[in-house]
Amino acid sequence: MLNFNFYNPTKIVFGEGRLKKLNNLVPQNAKVLITYGGGSVKRFGVLDQVKDELSKGSREVLEFGGIPANPRFDILLDAIKIVREQKVDFILAVGGGSVIDGTKFIAVAAVADEYEGRERELMNFGFTPVPVDGAIPFGTVLTLPATGSEMNNGAVISDGEDKLPVFSDHTFPKFSILDPVLTYTLPPTQVANGVVDTFIHTIEQYVTFPVGAGFQDRTAEGILQTLIEVGKTTMDEPENYNARANLVWCSTMALNGLIGAGVPQDWATHMIGHEITALTGLDHAKTLAVIQIANWKIRRTPKKKKLLQYAERVWGIREGDDDARIDLAIEKTENFFNSLGMATRLSDYDIGADIVDKVVAALEKHGMTQLSEHGDVTLDVSRKMLEEAL
Ligand code: NAP
Ligand code: FE
Repeated sequence: MLNFNFYNPTKIVFGEGRLKKLNNLVPQNAKVLITYGGGSVKRFGVLDQVKDELSKGSREVLEFGGIPANPRFDILLDAIKIVREQKVDFILAVGGGSVIDGTKFIAVAAVADEYEGRERELMNFGFTPVPVDGAIPFGTVLTLPATGSEMNNGAVISDGEDKLPVFSDHTFPKFSILDPVLTYTLPPTQVANGVVDTFIHTIEQYVTFPVGAGFQDRTAEGILQTLIEVGKTTMDEPENYNARANLVWCSTMALNGLIGAGVPQDWATHMIGHEITALTGLDHAKTLAVIQIANWKIRRTPKKKKLLQYAERVWGIREGDDDARIDLAIEKTENFFNSLGMATRLSDYDIGADIVDKVVAALEKHGMTQLSEHGDVTLDVSRKMLEEAL
């Protein structure tokens, strides 16, 4: 096992009806900015419930809606301005990963006057934490299980054709309310996105060079098996509480630092996927399903030992030689994605061969030239994956 720090200060308040705890969780007398997205929380009454709870204290409550899927830098700047001008002292994100990620960016950019006019500089640090001393405290009410953003310190922010990760030690939510019932209104395609994003977050930290991290491996395998068990059910029966509760908890646990502690992490699929989203607008999880399958087809040799473990422990594949077991594991993974209505080819989304050069150029521009846990995903390897994914 590698050396690691494990730090996660986010309080989780999980279960049906837990929105009622909001009045205890958000500081009294605070000036609160509620952030939300394109309107689903208004349409389905979540925003009203949140405001009802907040009105039980002596707080001033402001709202900022319109954070789009793939939160946009220019829109977030408007919120940052409000936080500064109004001296907001608590932010409450109500929504999915995009709203929560956007809120993290608002929280770090608005806290320090020195960043006024230079907010864009916070977006270029890749996996290195941004050098800020703090953030406006914030909590979340999660409406879409997928990203794990409700219990981690990462965010992904879009600016034109740049879609870049931002990290800070200060951007853990103070609390997150995870009520599976608030996710019942999701359209099936977003549920499928959630299952696949969670699956691939787990893969990025598990199908990596083996280091004998037994607990992390077994936990990752538990998440993957749970997703395989409940994925189709939670799409077909959106109001099946237990199935949805399992998805929600898996998505939080897949990316809160636990399974990634002490193990090498890959993230090549995510970094290539981000470029595809930035260039085409294709949903985050849909890019991942396509690239992950192509990734394994191209990198089956460096991934061999862990793919064999994945085949046996996650899919129960014990028959056949090494190659046959790996082939079957990739096939079963692809079939699982397809069973959720998730395509595994770029052409299924009418994305043609011209995407290859564009993505490779964007990866080069963003310094993503040696991706993966061993830096062996060079621009050439990324190109091969993209060609395989066509
Ligand atoms: P999302 O972009 O937050 O939301 C997708 C859509 O779902 C939105 O149109 C939203 O509508 C709708 N929606 C949300 N909750 C709903 C509900 N309960 N009922 C009906 N519709 C609902 O999706 P996401 O997958 O959670 O987040 C994706 C973003 O997170 C990407 O930018 C991705 O790169 C990033 N990401 C972050 C991390 C991380 O660790 N921070 C990890 C992976 C990915 P409205 O806008 O109308 O609300
Ligand atoms: Fe993701």
